[in-house]
Amino acid sequence: MTGRVRARENLEALVHRRTQALRDANVELERLATLDPLLGIANRRRLMDVARVLRQRAVEDASPLAVLMIDVDHFKAINDAYGHAYGDAVLCAIARSLQACVEGDALVARYGGEEFVMLLPGKTAADAACIAVQLQQAISTGTADLPALAGAAGQASGNACTPTVSVGVAEWLTPEPNLEPALNRADAGLYRAKSSGRNQVG
Ligand code: GH3
Ligand code: MG
Ligand code: MG
Repeated sequence: MTGRVRARENLEALVHRRTQALRDANVELERLATLDPLLGIANRRRLMDVARVLRQRAVEDASPLAVLMIDVDHFKAINDAYGHAYGDAVLCAIARSLQACVEGDALVARYGGEEFVMLLPGKTAADAACIAVQLQQAISTGTADLPALAGAAGQASGNACTPTVSVGVAEWLTPEPNLEPALNRADAGLYRAKSSGRNQVG
């Protein structure tokens, strides 16, 4: 093999490695751009992308698609009593509990702050209301060890911390071109759940 041929092969191998590294970096960038860095679940951008896909599928299959809007109750008080690091741990535990309830193509995303949205393909509003109650139970179980964490951090205010969530339920309606109106109805349901005393489904 001549020196020139070898040099060309080396160059080609180098270009191949660099191209692969660039591809890997792009995949990782895309992953990071769609994940919430604190909770490790989908962010709002991913929610909107998945919503478009699920809505399209619901149109094609003539199947229902439900939306849950979930908000942690009195979360500011939890931060104030136990500190922000503890508040972060509460949010992580709640995100884990919600994620554990997700099946199939359903998605849970952080909508912002202490608010989450769940998309439930194939589910009606009535199904989703039952799932909302299950989520509340899962959160109650999934955060049961948090008071000990607060005590260990020396930040306990003396009261047991038992986080709860309020949930708004809605179903996407066929003529609606996107999920925005269903999200608004879920938000209205959330507002009703809050007004009825929190830890409710509205
Ligand atoms: P409500 O029951 O009406 O929802 O009351 P709330 O206290 O949960 O609602 P409010 O909107 O008054 O407070 C939300 C708080 O959530 C305020 C904000 O500092 C806190 N928060 C938002 N994101 C984070 C986060 O990532 N970590 C922590 N520790 N706190 C957060
Ligand atoms: Mg809120
Ligand atoms: Mg709240």
